[in-house]
Amino acid sequence: MSILESKRIVLKVGSALIAPDNQGCRSHHLLGIAQFIVHCRQRGQQVVLVSSGSVAAGRHWFSGKPASVALKKAMAATGQTDMMALWDKLFDFPSAQILLTHADLCQRERYMSIMETIESLLEHDILPIVNENDTVASKELMVGDNDNLAAMIAAASAADSLIICTDVDGLFNKNPSIHADAVRLETVNQINADIHAMAGDAVSDTGTGGMRTKLEAAVKATAQGIDTYIINGFNQESFMQLLDGNNPGTHFVANRARSSSAVLWMKHTAKAKGEVLIAEADDSVNGEQDITLDSVVAVEGDFAVGDTILVRNVNGTKMAKAKSNYSSCLLNYVLTQGSVRQPTSTDEQPLSIISKDNVAML
Ligand code: GLU
Repeated sequence: MSILESKRIVLKVGSALIAPDNQGCRSHHLLGIAQFIVHCRQRGQQVVLVSSGSVAAGRHWFSGKPASVALKKAMAATGQTDMMALWDKLFDFPSAQILLTHADLCQRERYMSIMETIESLLEHDILPIVNENDTVASKELMVGDNDNLAAMIAAASAADSLIICTDVDGLFNKNPSIHADAVRLETVNQINADIHAMAGDAVSDTGTGGMRTKLEAAVKATAQGIDTYIINGFNQESFMQLLDGNNPGTHFVANRARSSSAVLWMKHTAKAKGEVLIAEADDSVNGEQDITLDSVVAVEGDFAVGDTILVRNVNGTKMAKAKSNYSSCLLNYVLTQGSVRQPTSTDEQPLSIISKDNVAML
Protein backbone atom coordinates (compact mmCIF):
# COMPACT_ATOMS: atom_id res chain seq x y z
CA MET A 1 0.00 0.00 0.00
CA SER A 2 1.41 3.41 -0.89
CA ILE A 3 1.39 6.17 1.68
CA LEU A 4 -1.30 7.95 -0.35
CA GLU A 5 -3.69 5.04 0.16
CA SER A 6 -3.07 4.82 3.91
CA LYS A 7 -5.86 6.07 6.13
CA ARG A 8 -3.75 6.04 9.25
CA ILE A 9 0.00 6.62 9.39
CA VAL A 10 2.44 6.35 12.28
CA LEU A 11 5.52 8.50 11.74
CA LYS A 12 8.63 7.91 13.84
CA VAL A 13 11.08 10.77 14.22
CA GLY A 14 14.42 10.15 15.92
CA SER A 15 16.51 12.19 18.32
CA ALA A 16 19.02 13.32 15.68
CA LEU A 17 16.25 15.15 13.83
CA ILE A 18 14.98 16.85 16.99
CA ALA A 19 18.29 17.86 18.56
CA PRO A 20 20.92 17.41 15.85
CA ASP A 21 23.76 19.03 17.79
CA ASN A 22 22.74 18.02 21.32
CA GLN A 23 22.25 21.70 22.06
CA GLY A 24 18.51 21.58 22.59
CA CYS A 25 15.63 21.29 20.12
CA ARG A 26 16.04 22.68 16.62
CA SER A 27 13.19 23.24 14.19
CA HIS A 28 15.50 22.98 11.17
CA HIS A 29 14.65 19.37 10.17
CA LEU A 30 11.20 19.42 11.71
CA LEU A 31 9.66 22.00 9.39
CA GLY A 32 9.49 19.59 6.44
CA ILE A 33 8.17 16.82 8.68
CA ALA A 34 5.49 19.11 10.12
CA GLN A 35 4.52 20.15 6.60
CA PHE A 36 4.20 16.48 5.62
CA ILE A 37 1.90 15.85 8.61
CA VAL A 38 -0.21 18.88 7.68
CA HIS A 39 -0.51 17.68 4.06
CA CYS A 40 -1.54 14.18 5.17
CA ARG A 41 -4.19 15.60 7.45
CA GLN A 42 -5.46 17.89 4.70
CA ARG A 43 -5.86 14.79 2.53
CA GLY A 44 -8.00 13.24 5.27
CA GLN A 45 -5.29 10.90 6.58
CA GLN A 46 -4.75 10.45 10.29
CA VAL A 47 -1.25 10.71 11.70
CA VAL A 48 0.26 9.53 14.97
CA LEU A 49 3.73 10.86 15.71
CA VAL A 50 6.26 8.84 17.71
CA SER A 51 8.93 11.33 18.67
CA SER A 52 12.24 10.51 20.34
CA GLY A 53 14.52 13.27 21.42
CA SER A 54 13.71 14.07 25.02
CA VAL A 55 17.14 13.00 26.27
CA ALA A 56 18.94 14.73 23.39
CA ALA A 57 16.83 17.88 23.82
CA GLY A 58 17.42 18.05 27.57
CA ARG A 59 21.10 17.16 27.55
CA HIS A 60 22.42 20.73 27.20
CA TRP A 61 20.88 21.75 30.54
CA PHE A 62 23.18 19.24 32.27
CA SER A 63 26.38 20.09 30.45
CA GLY A 64 29.68 18.75 31.68
CA LYS A 65 28.12 15.96 33.75
CA PRO A 66 28.65 12.32 32.72
CA ALA A 67 25.26 10.93 31.74
CA SER A 68 24.38 8.31 34.36
CA VAL A 69 21.04 6.50 34.01
CA ALA A 70 19.50 8.82 36.63
CA LEU A 71 20.80 11.87 34.79
CA LYS A 72 19.46 10.61 31.46
CA LYS A 73 16.04 10.30 33.06
CA ALA A 74 16.35 13.88 34.29
CA MET A 75 17.41 14.97 30.79
CA ALA A 76 14.39 13.18 29.34
CA ALA A 77 12.02 14.84 31.81
CA THR A 78 13.48 18.26 30.96
CA GLY A 79 13.79 17.76 27.20
CA GLN A 80 10.32 16.27 26.80
CA THR A 81 8.63 19.61 27.60
CA ASP A 82 10.95 21.49 25.21
CA MET A 83 10.26 18.94 22.51
CA MET A 84 6.49 19.04 22.95
CA ALA A 85 6.58 22.84 22.99
CA LEU A 86 8.46 22.84 19.69
CA TRP A 87 6.12 20.38 17.97
CA ASP A 88 3.14 22.31 19.30
CA LYS A 89 4.53 25.55 17.84
CA LEU A 90 4.78 23.97 14.39
CA PHE A 91 1.06 23.15 14.17
CA ASP A 92 -2.09 25.20 14.38
CA PHE A 93 -4.06 22.22 15.66
CA PRO A 94 -3.66 20.68 19.12
CA SER A 95 -1.27 17.88 19.91
CA ALA A 96 -1.40 15.45 22.83
CA GLN A 97 1.47 13.92 24.76
CA ILE A 98 1.37 10.18 25.40
CA LEU A 99 4.19 8.82 27.55
CA LEU A 100 4.32 5.10 28.17
CA THR A 101 6.57 2.15 28.88
CA HIS A 102 6.69 -1.44 27.72
CA ALA A 103 4.95 -2.42 30.97
CA ASP A 104 1.91 -0.41 29.82
CA LEU A 105 1.87 -2.06 26.41
CA CYS A 106 2.34 -5.55 27.91
CA GLN A 107 -0.66 -5.34 30.15
CA ARG A 108 -3.74 -6.04 28.04
CA GLU A 109 -6.05 -3.60 29.89
CA ARG A 110 -3.56 -0.75 29.71
CA TYR A 111 -2.92 -1.61 26.05
CA MET A 112 -6.64 -1.32 25.32
CA SER A 113 -6.71 1.98 27.18
CA ILE A 114 -3.85 3.27 25.00
CA MET A 115 -5.76 2.12 21.89
CA GLU A 116 -8.91 3.92 23.02
CA THR A 117 -7.07 7.12 23.86
CA ILE A 118 -5.34 7.27 20.47
CA GLU A 119 -8.64 6.55 18.74
CA SER A 120 -10.41 9.36 20.62
CA LEU A 121 -7.62 11.83 19.90
CA LEU A 122 -7.68 11.02 16.18
CA GLU A 123 -11.47 11.28 16.08
CA HIS A 124 -11.07 14.81 17.45
CA ASP A 125 -8.32 15.74 14.97
CA ILE A 126 -5.71 16.00 17.68
CA LEU A 127 -2.19 14.84 16.88
CA PRO A 128 -1.00 12.16 19.34
CA ILE A 129 2.73 12.47 20.06
CA VAL A 130 4.09 9.34 21.72
CA ASN A 131 7.38 8.75 23.51
CA GLU A 132 8.69 6.30 26.06
CA ASN A 133 8.26 7.49 29.63
CA ASP A 134 11.96 7.41 30.43
CA THR A 135 11.51 8.70 33.99
CA VAL A 136 9.68 5.60 35.18
CA ALA A 137 11.10 3.01 32.78
CA SER A 138 13.58 0.60 34.33
CA LYS A 139 15.58 -1.75 32.13
CA GLU A 140 12.96 -4.50 32.49
CA LEU A 141 10.00 -2.21 31.87
CA MET A 142 11.21 -0.26 28.85
CA VAL A 143 10.95 -0.86 25.14
CA GLY A 144 14.38 0.78 24.93
CA ASP A 145 14.18 2.24 21.46
CA ASN A 146 11.48 4.18 19.71
CA ASP A 147 11.67 2.15 16.48
CA ASN A 148 10.17 -0.87 18.24
CA LEU A 149 7.89 1.44 20.22
CA ALA A 150 6.62 2.94 16.96
CA ALA A 151 5.81 -0.53 15.60
CA MET A 152 3.88 -1.35 18.77
CA ILE A 153 2.02 1.97 18.54
CA ALA A 154 1.29 1.35 14.86
CA ALA A 155 -0.34 -1.94 15.87
CA ALA A 156 -2.16 -0.38 18.83
CA SER A 157 -3.55 2.37 16.61
CA ALA A 158 -4.45 -0.04 13.78
CA ALA A 159 -2.34 2.00 11.35
CA ASP A 160 -1.98 1.09 7.68
CA SER A 161 1.56 2.43 7.40
CA LEU A 162 4.57 3.07 9.56
CA ILE A 163 7.22 5.53 8.39
CA ILE A 164 10.55 5.43 10.22
CA CYS A 165 12.83 8.38 9.58
CA THR A 166 16.55 7.86 9.69
CA ASP A 167 19.70 9.52 8.34
CA VAL A 168 20.20 7.24 5.31
CA ASP A 169 17.99 6.71 2.28
CA GLY A 170 16.70 3.32 3.43
CA LEU A 171 18.18 -0.16 3.72
CA PHE A 172 21.21 -0.81 1.53
CA ASN A 173 22.68 -4.15 0.50
CA LYS A 174 25.89 -3.05 2.25
CA ASN A 175 26.91 -0.16 4.46
CA PRO A 176 26.65 2.94 2.18
CA SER A 177 29.04 4.97 4.33
CA ILE A 178 31.84 2.48 3.56
CA HIS A 179 30.90 1.04 0.16
CA ALA A 180 30.40 3.45 -2.73
CA ASP A 181 28.65 0.74 -4.75
CA ALA A 182 26.02 0.03 -2.07
CA VAL A 183 22.55 -0.26 -3.56
CA ARG A 184 19.32 0.76 -1.84
CA LEU A 185 16.64 -1.90 -1.59
CA GLU A 186 13.39 -0.36 -2.83
CA THR A 187 11.01 -3.10 -1.81
CA VAL A 188 11.40 -5.93 0.65
CA ASN A 189 8.70 -8.58 0.53
CA GLN A 190 10.21 -10.94 3.08
CA ILE A 191 12.50 -9.97 5.95
CA ASN A 192 14.80 -12.98 5.94
CA ALA A 193 18.30 -13.69 7.30
CA ASP A 194 19.95 -11.94 4.30
CA ILE A 195 17.99 -8.77 5.00
CA HIS A 196 18.91 -8.91 8.68
CA ALA A 197 22.57 -9.30 7.73
CA MET A 198 22.34 -6.11 5.62
CA ALA A 199 21.10 -4.13 8.64
CA GLY A 200 24.22 -5.00 10.65
CA ASP A 201 24.55 -3.58 14.11
CA ALA A 202 24.85 0.13 13.40
CA VAL A 203 23.63 2.40 16.18
CA SER A 204 23.00 6.11 16.12
CA ASP A 205 25.12 8.58 18.13
CA THR A 206 22.16 10.64 19.25
CA GLY A 207 19.35 8.15 19.86
CA THR A 208 19.32 4.50 20.87
CA GLY A 209 18.30 2.82 17.62
CA GLY A 210 20.23 1.86 14.50
CA MET A 211 19.23 0.02 11.34
CA ARG A 212 18.89 -3.17 13.40
CA THR A 213 16.07 -1.78 15.58
CA LYS A 214 14.42 -0.30 12.48
CA LEU A 215 14.37 -3.73 10.93
CA GLU A 216 12.98 -5.25 14.13
CA ALA A 217 10.24 -2.65 13.94
CA ALA A 218 9.59 -3.53 10.30
CA VAL A 219 9.31 -7.23 11.23
CA LYS A 220 6.77 -6.44 13.96
CA ALA A 221 4.75 -4.01 11.87
CA THR A 222 4.63 -5.95 8.59
CA ALA A 223 3.61 -9.12 10.46
CA GLN A 224 0.68 -7.11 11.76
CA GLY A 225 -0.39 -6.01 8.28
CA ILE A 226 1.31 -2.60 8.39
CA ASP A 227 3.35 -1.39 5.40
CA THR A 228 6.62 -0.01 6.70
CA TYR A 229 8.89 2.58 5.10
CA ILE A 230 12.40 3.50 6.18
CA ILE A 231 13.23 6.90 4.74
CA ASN A 232 15.80 9.65 5.09
CA GLY A 233 14.16 12.18 7.41
CA PHE A 234 17.00 14.67 6.90
CA ASN A 235 16.08 15.03 3.26
CA GLN A 236 12.93 17.12 2.70
CA GLU A 237 12.69 15.54 -0.73
CA SER A 238 11.72 12.22 0.96
CA PHE A 239 8.49 13.71 2.22
CA MET A 240 7.66 15.33 -1.13
CA GLN A 241 8.18 12.00 -2.83
CA LEU A 242 5.89 10.25 -0.35
CA LEU A 243 3.22 12.88 -1.05
CA ASP A 244 3.64 12.22 -4.78
CA GLY A 245 2.97 8.53 -4.17
CA ASN A 246 6.61 7.54 -4.69
CA ASN A 247 8.87 5.51 -2.44
CA PRO A 248 11.98 7.49 -1.44
CA GLY A 249 13.37 4.77 0.82
CA THR A 250 12.81 1.08 1.48
CA HIS A 251 9.27 -0.26 1.53
CA PHE A 252 8.72 -3.39 3.62
CA VAL A 253 5.54 -4.90 2.28
CA ALA A 254 2.84 -5.76 4.83
CA ASN A 255 1.92 -9.35 5.42
CA ARG A 256 -1.79 -9.54 4.65
CA ALA A 257 -2.37 -12.95 6.27
CA ARG A 258 -2.97 -11.71 9.79
CA SER A 259 -3.82 -13.53 13.01
CA SER A 260 -6.24 -12.07 15.54
CA SER A 261 -5.09 -8.80 17.08
CA ALA A 262 -4.88 -10.39 20.54
CA VAL A 263 -2.50 -13.08 19.24
CA LEU A 264 -0.43 -10.51 17.36
CA TRP A 265 -0.22 -8.37 20.48
CA MET A 266 0.96 -11.40 22.45
CA LYS A 267 3.58 -12.26 19.83
CA HIS A 268 4.99 -8.82 19.15
CA THR A 269 4.31 -6.70 22.23
CA ALA A 270 3.64 -8.72 25.39
CA LYS A 271 6.55 -9.99 27.49
CA ALA A 272 6.54 -13.60 28.63
CA LYS A 273 6.06 -13.93 32.39
CA GLY A 274 7.30 -17.52 32.49
CA GLU A 275 7.98 -20.63 30.43
CA VAL A 276 6.81 -24.16 29.88
CA LEU A 277 9.40 -26.60 28.58
CA ILE A 278 8.40 -29.19 26.02
CA ALA A 279 10.15 -32.51 25.30
CA GLU A 280 12.50 -32.32 22.33
CA ALA A 281 10.72 -34.94 20.24
CA ASP A 282 7.24 -33.47 20.79
CA ASP A 283 5.77 -32.23 17.52
CA SER A 284 2.33 -31.46 18.94
CA VAL A 285 3.31 -27.81 19.46
CA ASN A 286 2.47 -26.59 15.97
CA GLY A 287 -0.17 -23.92 16.46
CA GLU A 288 -2.87 -26.24 15.16
CA GLN A 289 -3.81 -28.00 18.36
CA ASP A 290 -4.05 -27.27 22.06
CA ILE A 291 -0.90 -27.77 24.11
CA THR A 292 -1.69 -30.31 26.79
CA LEU A 293 -0.06 -31.10 30.08
CA ASP A 294 1.30 -34.33 28.60
CA SER A 295 3.72 -32.27 26.54
CA VAL A 296 5.10 -30.28 29.45
CA VAL A 297 8.36 -31.35 31.03
CA ALA A 298 8.89 -28.38 33.35
CA VAL A 299 7.47 -24.99 34.28
CA GLU A 300 9.61 -21.93 34.94
CA GLY A 301 8.82 -18.52 36.40
CA ASP A 302 5.81 -17.22 38.19
CA PHE A 303 2.71 -16.58 36.07
CA ALA A 304 -1.03 -16.32 36.53
CA VAL A 305 -3.98 -17.60 34.48
CA GLY A 306 -4.14 -15.60 31.23
CA ASP A 307 -0.51 -14.44 31.34
CA THR A 308 1.67 -14.63 28.26
CA ILE A 309 4.28 -17.37 28.52
CA LEU A 310 7.04 -18.72 26.33
CA VAL A 311 6.87 -22.30 25.10
CA ARG A 312 10.39 -23.55 24.78
CA ASN A 313 11.85 -26.85 23.69
CA VAL A 314 14.13 -28.46 26.32
CA ASN A 315 17.04 -27.89 23.94
CA GLY A 316 16.42 -24.14 24.33
CA THR A 317 14.60 -23.39 21.07
CA LYS A 318 11.81 -20.83 21.44
CA MET A 319 8.73 -22.41 19.90
CA ALA A 320 5.77 -20.19 20.66
CA LYS A 321 4.33 -17.44 22.80
CA ALA A 322 1.03 -18.37 24.31
CA LYS A 323 -1.65 -17.48 26.82
CA SER A 324 -1.70 -19.91 29.71
CA ASN A 325 -4.96 -21.42 30.93
CA TYR A 326 -3.35 -22.13 34.30
CA SER A 327 -1.07 -20.46 36.80
CA SER A 328 2.52 -21.66 37.20
CA CYS A 329 1.64 -22.65 40.74
CA LEU A 330 -1.14 -24.99 39.64
CA LEU A 331 0.89 -26.38 36.74
CA ASN A 332 3.79 -27.15 39.06
CA TYR A 333 1.40 -28.87 41.43
CA VAL A 334 -0.25 -31.09 38.80
CA LEU A 335 3.10 -31.85 37.20
CA THR A 336 4.25 -33.41 40.44
CA GLN A 337 0.97 -35.42 40.73
CA GLY A 338 1.53 -38.21 38.19
CA SER A 339 -2.11 -39.36 38.36
CA VAL A 340 -3.40 -36.00 37.11
CA ARG A 341 -1.12 -36.19 34.09
CA GLN A 342 -2.42 -39.53 32.85
CA PRO A 343 -6.07 -39.77 31.81
CA THR A 344 -7.66 -42.67 33.67
CA SER A 345 -10.20 -43.57 31.00
CA THR A 346 -10.05 -43.42 27.23
CA ASP A 347 -12.73 -40.63 27.20
CA GLU A 348 -10.73 -38.34 29.42
CA GLN A 349 -8.92 -35.62 27.49
CA PRO A 350 -5.42 -34.63 28.58
CA LEU A 351 -5.46 -31.29 30.37
CA SER A 352 -5.30 -28.44 27.86
CA ILE A 353 -2.94 -25.88 29.31
CA ILE A 354 -2.97 -23.63 26.23
CA SER A 355 -5.79 -23.38 23.71
CA LYS A 356 -4.74 -23.47 20.06
CA ASP A 357 -6.35 -20.06 19.41
CA ASN A 358 -3.97 -18.57 21.96
CA VAL A 359 -0.73 -19.84 20.44
CA ALA A 360 1.58 -17.67 18.36
CA MET A 361 4.29 -19.79 16.78
CA LEU A 362 7.69 -18.08 16.72
N1 GLU B 1 12.82 7.97 24.77
C1 GLU B 1 14.07 8.34 24.20
C2 GLU B 1 14.15 9.85 24.08
O1 GLU B 1 13.15 10.50 23.94
C3 GLU B 1 14.20 7.82 22.80
C4 GLU B 1 14.82 6.52 22.59
C5 GLU B 1 15.29 6.39 21.12
O2 GLU B 1 16.10 7.21 20.69
O3 GLU B 1 14.85 5.50 20.42
O4 GLU B 1 15.23 10.39 24.10
